[in-house]
Order: sequence, then structure tokens, then C-alpha cells
Amino acid sequence: MTDPFAPGFIERPYWWDAAPPTIDSAPPLPEEIAVAIIGGGIAGLSTALELGRNGVKSLVLDREMIGWGASSRNGGALAGAGSLGKVRADLDKVLGKQFLHELSEESEGAFESFEALVAREGLDCDYVRSGRFVGAHAPKAMDALKRRADFINAAAGEQAFILPRERVAEEIATDRFFGGMVLHRAGSLHPAKYVRSLGQAAERNGAILAGGTEVRGYKRLPDGSFLVDTSRGAVRAHHVMAATNGYTGKATPWQRRRLIPVASYMIATEELGEERVRKALPKLRVYGDTKKVLYYFRPSPDYRRILFGGRASFVDADTKRSGAKLHRFLTDLIPELEGVRITHSWKGNVAFAFDMMPHVGVEDGMHDAMARNGDGVTTLTHLATVAARMILGGSNKASAYSRIPFETRPPYSGHPGFMPFIGTAYQLRDRMDGWRLRDRKH
Ligand SMILES: Cc1cc2nc3c(=O)[nH]c(=O)nc-3n(C[C@H](O)[C@H](O)[C@H](O)COP(=O)(O)OP(=O)(O)OC[C@H]3O[C@@H](n4cnc5c(N)ncnc54)[C@H](O)[C@@H]3O)c2cc1C
Repeated sequence: MTDPFAPGFIERPYWWDAAPPTIDSAPPLPEEIAVAIIGGGIAGLSTALELGRNGVKSLVLDREMIGWGASSRNGGALAGAGSLGKVRADLDKVLGKQFLHELSEESEGAFESFEALVAREGLDCDYVRSGRFVGAHAPKAMDALKRRADFINAAAGEQAFILPRERVAEEIATDRFFGGMVLHRAGSLHPAKYVRSLGQAAERNGAILAGGTEVRGYKRLPDGSFLVDTSRGAVRAHHVMAATNGYTGKATPWQRRRLIPVASYMIATEELGEERVRKALPKLRVYGDTKKVLYYFRPSPDYRRILFGGRASFVDADTKRSGAKLHRFLTDLIPELEGVRITHSWKGNVAFAFDMMPHVGVEDGMHDAMARNGDGVTTLTHLATVAARMILGGSNKASAYSRIPFETRPPYSGHPGFMPFIGTAYQLRDRMDGWRLRDRKH
């Protein structure tokens, strides 16, 4: 087997070559602020942007650099309601048809709002409405894809169509798929550029961005405001929001008990040139498959490389090992890429809630928007806006997502090693059966 690593191989996100997160802003902390936001990713920065547009000043605190987390490491593949249908096939029975309809309508709206946001703020993020192809990894997966296509078309009009096996070659140079689904309302972006330009837009609207500032905890003051304890001093805030997703830690124990952090891994190939990339992925879309532990992949924004991701390991693996493994998966899926080497390998954390759904809400005064993986970019951009409106004092119509209870499973305390992942997350989906839509109280 050839060495999968190209000369100059680096264990760092490919995206950081063009848009590395930097602590270019570690300003003195104010003594008092209207809203303190913990976490400087898509969720935190989108909240800050929406607050700023409404004249409310916020302070975004990240213990690393602003944009350092999953937001600058992800695959940059975007879709609307499509991923909701993936949570489980019988969502309509679990949630009720009416509520599921509200959720899928809101998800579709979130995708359109995302596109409107990019245009309105002039976000420099290489966004294209590329469409998405999902390959069926087994014959029986075609049934699930057909159900998903029906679900999407019911929510969003004729956006999804099924491709039989003999037409898969129009989409991808593999014989591994037994057919697939094409989704029109889907796109791709450069995630590190997106989070960087979101930060710039938030700053233009008055937000203070403080990288290199860890939040260690907080306490509630008698007047209902908060004293936020940071590594660079205390700040009094009238509202606090946790936007820490897969990196949620001890500072916000309530949220931590509700999230299972999981690493996801990616690689970038060396430059292949657009012609070779088009040979492998003729329509230059974003791609996924139907496996539970799925692959996701896409061309780079300049169409010269292929970026490929998946859960290469269920334990926290080093990115050289995960890189070699993902390289094997890629060349196995698209044999045409045999001999191609990789230049970058990296990982980042996503977070699952026990019900596999995204969550937004407020608990004991602490706001949050978190728990989404495969479509976190659009979902969290949207839920952050919902969180900002909740902080601002409500909006005309409450988000359907804010009505989903954000539950934990005692005695889970936030250590995923406590319960092996495979035995939990996928099986725990079934426990949604006991759901009752209600306020998030325990
Ligand atoms: C490899 C990978 C591929 C992915 N692919 C896709 C994709 O193709 N499409 C898609 O839509 N989504 C994808 N996702 C998911 C998406 O990236 C996430 O859902 C989204 O970026 C989460 O944004 P966030 O702002 O909530 O969290 P993050 O961007 O992870 O930011 C959380 C921040 O909180 C900070 N923090 C934590 N604790 C503290 C503290 N105590 N004090 C201060 N700061 C703190 C961290 O330093 C971190 O920067 C992928 C994720 C990964 C990792």
C-alpha cells in the first residue's frame, strides 16, 4: 500500500490554511454587559449578531480563539429539513404530525434565512447552492431514502428525488451505492471563512469578541443578573448564554449533563485538479450516505481537492491514525482515487442530545442553543437567532424547537466514557417515545 501522506502533511484543518482562527481581539473585559455568551462559534456569534442588530450589546467569550471549535472544522455541507427525516423514520408517530410539520417548516425556513443572512451581511464564505447526493449503502436503505424524500417533498415542495442504481454514476464514480437521493435545496460553504465573517458582522454590530478567555463558572445575583467568572476577571451580565456545543464543560453543568460529545474526523486530499475531481464527483455537490456511522465528503471550494469525513474512531484517536483510516475509506469508496495522498487530517467535537434533536431554550436564567451535528451550520445559525429573540423578550411566534424538552439520563454527568457511545446514542433515539412537549423543567 502506498504511503497515504503527501509531503508537508499536517494535522490541522484544511480550512485554516485560508482562514485560521486568531486571537486578533482579546480586548479588556467590560465590568458589566447586557449579554455574556460562552463560546465563540457559529451559535455564539450568530446570537451576538442578532442581539447587536437589535441594539443589545454582548460579550462573546471563548477559551480558545474565536471560531476555534467545530465551526471552523466542519464539512461545510448544508441542508434544510432533510436531516430531520434522518433522525428516525417514525418521527411523525413520536412527535405527532402537526408538531413535525412545524419543525420541518421551521427547518426549511432556517435554510432560507441562512441564505438571506449571507446575502444581507455580505458574508465572505464561498457559499454555493450545490445540491446534495445521499448514496444508499445497502438495498434496503433505498426504502428509507424514499421515505426521506417523501418527507422532504411534503415539507419543502419537490426538492428531493430518488436515483436508481443505474444512474448513480451521474453523481459519483463508485459502484458501492445501490441508488441514492438528490436534494436540490442544499449547499456548501467554507466553514472557517463563514465563522470568521460572522464574527466580523457581530463586531460591526457592537459585539465584543474575547478569545483566550475561559468561563469557569457563574453565580446568580439577588437581582437576577449573573456574575460570570472568567480567566481574565469577573463580568456582571444581565443574561448569559451557553453556546459551547461539543466542548461544553463544567462551567455549565446543566447543559453538560444533557450532551454527549463525540469527535468527528476529516481529511483533505492533495491537489488533484478540477478535471480529476469532476471525474470522481461529476456534479460537484456535497455527499453523504445512509450508514448510521456515515461518510460525508465534497470538493474543496476551488474544486481541486476532495474533503472526506466520518467517524473514524469511537475513542478519541490521533489525527494521523484517523487520517490513514479515512484515506482507506475514501479510496475504497472511489477506487479511481487510488494512489491519491492526503495533506491534512483533523478532528472536532460535535454533541448529541439524548433524543438526537437540536435544542434551544432557557434554564434557570441560562440560555442555550446546542446539540446538532450533521446540519449544525444552518440549524445553529437559526437557533442562535431564536435564542437572541428569547433574550430580547420573545418574538411573534415561539420556535417549535424551544418546545422540545432537553432531557438528561441520570446518572449521566457529562463523561461519555461512562456509557459507551454505540450502546447509547442510537438506541436512545427510541426513548423519544416517552416525549411530552412541555417546558424544560426537571
Ligand atoms: C469534523 C466535523 C464535521 C462537521 N460537518 C458538518 C457539516 O458538513 N455540516 C454541518 O452543518 N455541520 C457539520 N458539523 C457540525 C457543526 O460544525 C457544529 O454543529 C457547529 O459548528 C457547532 O457550532 P457551535 O458554535 O455551537 O460550537 P463550536 O463551534 O464547537 O464552538 C464552541 C466553542 O465553545 C468554546 N468553549 C467551550 N467551553 C468554554 C468555556 N468554558 N469558556 C469559553 N469558551 C468555551 C470552545 O472553545 C469552542 O470554540 C461538523 C462538525 C465537525 C466537528
